[in-house]
Amino acid sequence: MRKVAEASGHETPVWRGAAATAAAAAAGPALLGFAGVLDGGAALAAALAAAPAAAAVAWMAGLTRLRRESAIRLAAAARVPSGRDHSAEILNLLPAPVLLIGPDGRIETANPAARSFLGLGGEGGQLSAALRQPQVLEAVGAALRGERPEPVEYSTPAPVESHIRAIATPLRPGAADARDWRAVLVFVDETSIKRIERMRADFLANASHELRTPLASLAGFIETLRGHAKGDQAAQERFLGIMQDQTERMRRLIDDLLSLSRIEMDEHLPPGGKADLSKLAGDIVDALAPLADEKNVTVRVDAGGPARVTGDRDQLLEVAQNLLENAIKYSPSGAEVLIEVRAGLSREAAEKLASPLSPDASRLAIASPPGASGRRYAAMQVRDSGPGIDRRHLPRLSERFYRVDGQKSGPREGTGLGLAIVKHIVNRHRGGLVVESAPGAGSVFTAYFPEYVKPDATPEAAVR
Ligand code: ADP
Repeated sequence: MRKVAEASGHETPVWRGAAATAAAAAAGPALLGFAGVLDGGAALAAALAAAPAAAAVAWMAGLTRLRRESAIRLAAAARVPSGRDHSAEILNLLPAPVLLIGPDGRIETANPAARSFLGLGGEGGQLSAALRQPQVLEAVGAALRGERPEPVEYSTPAPVESHIRAIATPLRPGAADARDWRAVLVFVDETSIKRIERMRADFLANASHELRTPLASLAGFIETLRGHAKGDQAAQERFLGIMQDQTERMRRLIDDLLSLSRIEMDEHLPPGGKADLSKLAGDIVDALAPLADEKNVTVRVDAGGPARVTGDRDQLLEVAQNLLENAIKYSPSGAEVLIEVRAGLSREAAEKLASPLSPDASRLAIASPPGASGRRYAAMQVRDSGPGIDRRHLPRLSERFYRVDGQKSGPREGTGLGLAIVKHIVNRHRGGLVVESAPGAGSVFTAYFPEYVKPDATPEAAVR
């Protein structure tokens, strides 16, 4: 910063010292390097002292695409011959939310990242009105008194859990006139790193637990094949068949665990892109035709017309695949499965799309979209006439590894992860998932997603 300020011959207003470098730490090591170039080694050391975890977080998380792009742009900005003060542009480019707080607690400056993070309108107003985090407000108060408060970590539970670290740093403490004292507040999103930590722990625990059983059974069969089944051709064939099933189950387990981990990582990032549920339904029916043939189950598609939703096509395909695969797997031979797609639904209509299976059917919303009444949804519904699921199991269906005892799925034994994957994808898409089931009559799973709205559409169009 100093170099720019010297060259331009005037004070750099907001963006100086430890606060600047702490924010740079939030944007990753590339940016830290940039801060070091501009402000010297002392500033870099101050940044590392102020936010060591933040630097490590950004480093370990490998920087998000946005952060990487911004760091590249900032690095390019650093090479621009000085002569102009670029500090405002730099502040605007920073992906980390940064605020300048005046002595009366008012937001004096907020970069675009901070505006979107706090949902600020044109006027800044009081920080306490925009952010209901007493510990952060206290830290800002302390920084305004010239103290150097510890970073504050907090979590927001809705709509998806996020973990934030807020760093408040005094600016111009000790200025003769206390009215010149300011605080710089920087937010670092640590959600990804927290998710990685939790994911790693869960993955290790789950993978080792779930793989142990098939591995033990494989070891047992190998021992038998080398021992008393050595000369028994028929027994060898049978055991090798079981071993193949166990190996395939282990492969499915690993695939599902990896898929679940990837989805959990991104769950807090709303998806871009669009997909047509009707087309997707047709594609998945084709892809699962061999399984349906193997089980002698007929799959029928009833799609009214295009049903465009905002979303990640591959993940939506995974939803359709898991629901249809379950319906086929748990249906008896000769049964029919129906996959229906409907668009232009209110949330209430999407939730109650299934016509009742039987008078004693139970219904449960496994996931629901957050707020936003008035939105329109498109739904995909998979209906089977299999064994159904008893009411007491419904709340636990989307738990990892939960499987209903005694449920027959044929040769393709499940992993108990399919519906957990579906629920996470639905949550990421701000959609909903409803199950309706009646023992003996069948099950209906409905996944619905917000309809696609053109980015330039007016808010009225968005809610129609
Ligand atoms: P799995 O890989 O075991 O199928 P899921 O998470 O997809 O795991 O489903 C969890 C459990 O819910 C299943 O093990 C099964 O007991 C039950 N289930 C899911 N879908 C159906 C269905 N269409 N009919 C009957 N039971 C089902």
